[in-house]
Amino acid sequence: QIPAYFTALFIITRLLIKISSKPFDVHHKDIKSLDIAAKLSVDPSAVEAASRDFGHIVKAIPQAVLHPSTPQDIAALIKLSYYNSVPFGIAAKGHGHSIRGQAMANNGVVIDMKSMKKHPNGTGIRVSTEGLHADVGGEQLWIDVLNKTLEHGLAPVSWTDYLYLTVGGTLSNAGISGQTFRHGPQISNVLELDVITGKADFMTCSPKKNSELFYAVLGGLGQFGIITRARIPLQPAPKRVKWVRVLYNDFSAFTRDQELLISRNGRKDKSALDYVEGSLLMDQGSPDNWRSSFFPHSDHPKIISLITKHRIIYSLELVKHYDDQTKNTADKEMKQILQGLSYMPGFMFHKDVGYEEFLNRVRSGELKLESQGLWEVPHPWLNLFIPKSRISDFNNGVFRGIVLERNITTGPVLVYPMNKQKWDDRMSAVIPDEEIFYTVGFLHSSGFDDWEAFEDQNKDIMKFCKEAGVMVKQYLPHYSTKDEWVHHFGSKWKIFQQRKHQFDPRMLLSPGQRIFNNN
Ligand code: FAD
Repeated sequence: QIPAYFTALFIITRLLIKISSKPFDVHHKDIKSLDIAAKLSVDPSAVEAASRDFGHIVKAIPQAVLHPSTPQDIAALIKLSYYNSVPFGIAAKGHGHSIRGQAMANNGVVIDMKSMKKHPNGTGIRVSTEGLHADVGGEQLWIDVLNKTLEHGLAPVSWTDYLYLTVGGTLSNAGISGQTFRHGPQISNVLELDVITGKADFMTCSPKKNSELFYAVLGGLGQFGIITRARIPLQPAPKRVKWVRVLYNDFSAFTRDQELLISRNGRKDKSALDYVEGSLLMDQGSPDNWRSSFFPHSDHPKIISLITKHRIIYSLELVKHYDDQTKNTADKEMKQILQGLSYMPGFMFHKDVGYEEFLNRVRSGELKLESQGLWEVPHPWLNLFIPKSRISDFNNGVFRGIVLERNITTGPVLVYPMNKQKWDDRMSAVIPDEEIFYTVGFLHSSGFDDWEAFEDQNKDIMKFCKEAGVMVKQYLPHYSTKDEWVHHFGSKWKIFQQRKHQFDPRMLLSPGQRIFNNN
């Protein structure tokens, strides 16, 4: 106990003096009550890891890293900052798969959430087969949620394409994929949360209890509190999926079909698909990419010659779940659905895979890139939400304009529509004001010396949208000025700001988002 106490005193004194350049003014009794001594680290390798993220574009160096074992450790850290005359920034870092330093805390403290993952006092992943829900720690990865719930024959309904992301991280954004048109984003599929606010208060919130905090936190970019538990609804998991891709050279036929498919979105609608996405195929050597290898090798030449001819081909991706009882009907239903679509004859490709293999489809690409040293590279991504009414202008101006002119696009470009009605406007997440909107994701990888060329392309795209009056919203947003944030939130800015004053009045949390603390 005694050495731990002195270590704590040393690190915390150092932390506060460095941050505030003022005399240390946390009371002795506060430190005594802190049981985070051995859990605060100033080890150079821990600090270095907390200064980086998946983007490899920005770097922000914290003073220390907290490795909590319990939510109480997190609350103790927040309290320390909250009651100090000059508070320090605190960022929860989930899996650090942000692109622009959103989980960093320059000069502050980064909380390494994954330290709580396997701790016996943590929430872990607890499945209630009676309640049809799982209580999941904010630090848990979605892949672990999937594996655990499948043990009970159950699974959540709304996913991200890639599962090595934390529950707290995706709920702070939205969590979108091909299921979103039907079930809403992951933030629409939460029953209850435990949150530690920026005042170090422990609060349980739901649509009925402390609802202001509940809606603030969902899509709240980590601004209002740290999620330590989320209750996620579950459904019986399907066994397998029918997985189809069809190709188009005509953008309007592609989007018409996508919109038709997402209009069948009732939770009990038998004709509804379980997943609808889309992407661009461009001259990148292969129609496959790290996000998924799908097309049979023997068909690559014919797809490549189609791409050479048209320069951009649009690939629509569909999935229907099935299990032993629905095996035969799933086939028939898929055939019927395909008959109603206008893809290019001869360009339909299908697979039949296990449910888990489908959901975890991006992992093999990650491991391959990792083995080639191509995973930990800069990722100058741009993710946008675009109103349906302007998606054709976006195709002409951006896909067939900027992207073809610059001819530098490497990596997947996703395009698929979603229904606004599946999003709850009370949440902090921001989407366009139209019933149907598209997500477009430019998921670039680059070298360490050429990522700026992609940034220039991203800027051109944003400029095009501004000049053409296309009212886009960024997903996983990043801005450098307050005016841009105010514009991003639009009519939600006032409430976002009010909630910040209510739940994190000293502006401690997630400073790397650079919304309230522009440093
Ligand atoms: P981090 O990067 O660690 O944190 C993100 C933000 O959330 C930070 O501000 C952080 O402070 C805050 N935060 C983290 N944990 C908590 C918590 N417990 N409580 C409160 N705040 C917290 N997104 C999609 O929607 N769909 C996709 O298909 C998708 N695919 C992706 C694929 C890859 C390869 C990558 C790199 C990203 C992808 N994303 C996708 C984006 C991803 O959802 C976000 O970047 C998400 O924030 C990553 O989760 P994380 O655990 O790494 O969060």
